[in-house]
Amino acid sequence: MARYKDAVCRLCRREGMKLFLKGAKCFSDKCPIEKRNYAPGQHGKDKKTKVVGYGLQLREKQKAKRIYFVGENQFRNYYEDASRSQGVTGELLLQQLERRLDNIVYRMGFAVARRQARQLVRHGHIAVNGRKVTIPSYEVKAGDEVVVRDEAKNIETIKAAVEYNSHQPAPTWLEVDREGLKGRVTALPKREDLNLPVNEQLIVELYSK
Ligand code: SF4
Repeated sequence: MARYKDAVCRLCRREGMKLFLKGAKCFSDKCPIEKRNYAPGQHGKDKKTKVVGYGLQLREKQKAKRIYFVGENQFRNYYEDASRSQGVTGELLLQQLERRLDNIVYRMGFAVARRQARQLVRHGHIAVNGRKVTIPSYEVKAGDEVVVRDEAKNIETIKAAVEYNSHQPAPTWLEVDREGLKGRVTALPKREDLNLPVNEQLIVELYSK
C-alpha cells in the first residue's frame, strides 16, 4: 500500500462503502460515495454480481488492508502472528493493526486520517516514551506514551486535526491530552472498542484455507 498513488476515494468506491480515508471530506457531501456509490472504472456501474464465499472473504481482507493502508505481505505477517498467539485470531489481528504507531496517532486525534498520521511519523514528529520513532508500523504497547515532539507542535495540519477532533471523544483504551499533544495507551483494544466495518472472521477463513 506504500506505493498507492491513485485517488484514495476509489478504494471506498471499490468496497462500496465509506472507509473514512480522508478526514473532513468523508463527512461532507463532497464524498464520492454519496454520488457515485459504484465501483470505479469504465464498467463499474454495470458490475452487479452478488459476492459470495471466497469473493466475500477476499473483499473483507482488502477492506481491512485499505483502512489501515497496509500491504499484502505485511498484512499476512500480522495474520501469521495473530494465528500463533493465544486468543481469538480475528480479534488479535485487528489488535495488531490498531497497535501500529500511525494508527495510534490517528486515534489520538493528532491527524484526520491514517495516511496523514503516517506522514507525521515518517517526518519524525512523533516520539514514543521520549524517543523519536519514524516507523509507522512501530508496535505500540499498553503503557506507552505517544507525544507530538516539541518542534512539531505548531504544525498547521496537527493543529487543524486537533481542532477538527475536539468534539470527538478519544477511544476508551487511550488516555489523551489533546492540548498537550500527548497520550498514553492504557490497554490494548477489545473488539467491542473498535468501530470497524470489517468482518475479521471472514479474513481468518480466507487465510486458513
Ligand atoms: Fe472514502 Fe472519505 Fe473519499 Fe468518501 S471522501 S470516498 S469516505 S475517502
